[in-house]
Amino acid sequence: MTLSISGNIPQGRINVIDASDSSNIRLSLPKDPGTPFFAWYNFRVSGARGVPLTFVFEDIGASVANRMDNRDDVEDAWTNTGPLVSEDGETWFRVPAVSDGETWTFSYTPKGDLVTFAEFPPFGPERDQALTYRALKDPDVRLEVIGQSVQGRPIDLLTFGTPGPDKPNLWITTRQHPSETQGGFFLEGLFDRLLDPYDAAARVLREQAVLYIVPNANPDGNALGLSRANAAGANLNREWESPDPERAPEVVAIREQMLARGLDFFLDGHSDNELRCNFIWPSENVPTWTPDRWDIFRTFETALDAASPDYETGHPYPGGAAPAVADLGMAWNWVGAAFPKSLSVLLEQATKDTTLHPMAGQGWLPQRARGLGRDIVPALLAVVPHLSRQGRAEPY
Ligand SMILES: [Zn+2]
Repeated sequence: MTLSISGNIPQGRINVIDASDSSNIRLSLPKDPGTPFFAWYNFRVSGARGVPLTFVFEDIGASVANRMDNRDDVEDAWTNTGPLVSEDGETWFRVPAVSDGETWTFSYTPKGDLVTFAEFPPFGPERDQALTYRALKDPDVRLEVIGQSVQGRPIDLLTFGTPGPDKPNLWITTRQHPSETQGGFFLEGLFDRLLDPYDAAARVLREQAVLYIVPNANPDGNALGLSRANAAGANLNREWESPDPERAPEVVAIREQMLARGLDFFLDGHSDNELRCNFIWPSENVPTWTPDRWDIFRTFETALDAASPDYETGHPYPGGAAPAVADLGMAWNWVGAAFPKSLSVLLEQATKDTTLHPMAGQGWLPQRARGLGRDIVPALLAVVPHLSRQGRAEPY
């Protein structure tokens, strides 16, 4: 059997430097074209049943040097964690890895002829399509194509319920950053509840509010297996203040719909490969912030904490405090600034694990991301009475 390693799979990504020695397979992580961004890997290995394999990622030092600001007190993405592995494409488990600050090394002996390694399980275009078709089995869910990506892929908006003057508009977007596939699994869990007519919290939520959901805010990046960029090399979550239609048509499309339909609540779904928690935070440093927003945020946070032990209150903003001057290029901040009566929240899901209730040897997994998605329903229901109705954008 010949050892074969390939990133040419759906949402795949890897560079093979040298695979001639199965005990020292040298790999690196390709950058998103035209950007400094890299972190995502997803590749298959075949022809190694029963063969002990050791993989070495060679460019971890550059990744660590490229970290976000204010993370000095936070463990980097490669320390005390390992890749997720699947031998059936569906169930995933984690194997340990060792970082020396420059390289990242892990070993695994495949039981079968095909095994996949990934930063987090992929959530590729076919899974997106299945998620959308599933939602559309409910006649009260509507799909509209609100724009096109750089490469012409449709930007889908799903609407749960019928808008009305007494109903707040709740917006959820996920996966502006394509490697943060946790967002897709989160929506699978959210839809588990929203589509269950006998789930009381979901039923009442859908009676009292309208949900606008953009399941995949960066379909090109997702299809191409990128880390943080779209096909034009833009980090979409820095483009929200004045998006360029050529460079960030995805943001232009979503913003236009928020402005046209109104917005009272926004959750922007991300994930973080360093933090050991699921983290939420309101846009407290935008120019139009008012202290009463804290009360509404605390209502939301308290309900989420009660619903899910995988959400832990008390984790501070990484580095100690949100930047005193908000970057209005970020979706949650632009929304918080432009819709001053709304509550706009950033969600960062874990990649490694949580600290309070960790799962040894497994860490954060799609099953847990789905659980968090299900448990967001009572938190949304709790916050509805405190939200504005049909909030409109105002100058900031
Ligand atoms: Zn992100």
